[in-house]
Amino acid sequence: MLRRTKIVATLGPATDDPKVLDQIIEAGVDVVRLNFSHGPRDFDQACKLHRERVETVRSRAQAYGRQVGVLADLQGPKIRIAKFKAGKANLEDKARFTLDLSLPKDAGDENQVGVDYEDLADDVSRGDTLLLDDGRIVLWVEEVVGPKIACRVVIGGILLDNKGINRQGGGLSAKALTAKDRRDIQCAAELQVDYLAVSFPRSADDLNEARELFQAAGGRGGIVAKIERAEALENLEEMIAASEAVMVARGDLGVEIGDAALPPVQKNIIHLARKMNGVVITATQMMETMIKSPVPTRAEVFDVANAVLDGTDAVMLSAETASGDFPGKAVAAMDRICREAEKQYQVTVSTHRINSRFSRIDEGIAMAAMYLANHSAIKAIAALTESGSTPLWMSRISSAIPIYALTRHVETRRKVTLYRGVCPVSFNVNSSDHALINREAISELQRRGAVRDGDWVIITKGDLTGVQGGTNALKVVQVGNMV
Ligand code: PGA
Ligand code: MN
Repeated sequence: MLRRTKIVATLGPATDDPKVLDQIIEAGVDVVRLNFSHGPRDFDQACKLHRERVETVRSRAQAYGRQVGVLADLQGPKIRIAKFKAGKANLEDKARFTLDLSLPKDAGDENQVGVDYEDLADDVSRGDTLLLDDGRIVLWVEEVVGPKIACRVVIGGILLDNKGINRQGGGLSAKALTAKDRRDIQCAAELQVDYLAVSFPRSADDLNEARELFQAAGGRGGIVAKIERAEALENLEEMIAASEAVMVARGDLGVEIGDAALPPVQKNIIHLARKMNGVVITATQMMETMIKSPVPTRAEVFDVANAVLDGTDAVMLSAETASGDFPGKAVAAMDRICREAEKQYQVTVSTHRINSRFSRIDEGIAMAAMYLANHSAIKAIAALTESGSTPLWMSRISSAIPIYALTRHVETRRKVTLYRGVCPVSFNVNSSDHALINREAISELQRRGAVRDGDWVIITKGDLTGVQGGTNALKVVQVGNMV
């Protein structure tokens, strides 16, 4: 049986080992993430590394007869402390510690450290709580004098160079796209990535700006809005509308809004994204202990399964695959947990858009196909598609029936790697004879072992095959019994 929920795995030093890369592909990875926050400092070197990774993944995926999408994740304006003379400092509870914008970038010590964001002193004031290193270190702002932000250490500990700074409640106003992001967008466009993830966007404007730069550089992939700022939650609808996918970026978001607020927010983002015909990725710490352990904790098993029950399109691995000891096992564990969770009753019933009117015929056909599939003995859906819109609409409806996206475009096959329940299939239409096209589509599914004699299959397509937005036909055929 096809796994519906997709697995995104971050590439890194661990997956640069060809054996490990093969393991994650064999274990069923659907999309790989290039993390532009890591890698060489030099732009050309970093881009070269990402290029090598993309080329290797695409050629290994082809060797396995699999389709693997590529998502490039920008670093974004994460505000970070500068460096310590000793590489780290021990902050004592209740001690005074100053973030000093005028301090040389490598002169930090037990009492002070520089910051890489010049406007920080304008953005914070007495009474703010600053969270460093994903909240492991907590500072309380006592006073801001010129470039010096004097703080009291609320929770101390060892602080390493370049750790991130967030403000509780959000509101640090760094612009979404940094100079580095702009260059990285060029690189992502050159690599023809399928998705470009924008980090720390505040609004639809930030996403539109990224899209314009990406497209101007020749990029054709979709935009992913990472929801990781408190402000993004206020602009959620416009951000879903301005992107192809959103990511529940639980790491940074949890620091800003507090960890306990995350579970309902995750459910809400997933629900709203799907309702608005958007795609959604659930990310961060899903299998965290598998960085060092070959088996997940029970809590991690539940986290992945619960994201599946919430309706997420994809679950994501970060350090588990990029730098962990068991990348293949982490993907394999997600695979088996997703499959089991997908058998639950609540993931096969749907009230998606049950009371809405459809503005487009092709969307209506997609909805009708799912209604029919979910309420009768249909084995599979074959959606002949150009852009992938029909299978996207179909996959917004919860179902246990596999949706095969049959397309001649490799870009479309890669794009649908992120859609829950959709399996990409290479398919060329060389005829205008619809009976022949139907038979060829069914033989393709038979070759893959997806259907056999006697099975009922829904085919959707347009009268004019090869035209975008032209889906106007829904046909039900029985395998082995076709005209
Ligand atoms: P990151 O984003 O891994 O790039 O930080 C995800 C998150 O913040 O959860
Ligand atoms: Mn983040």
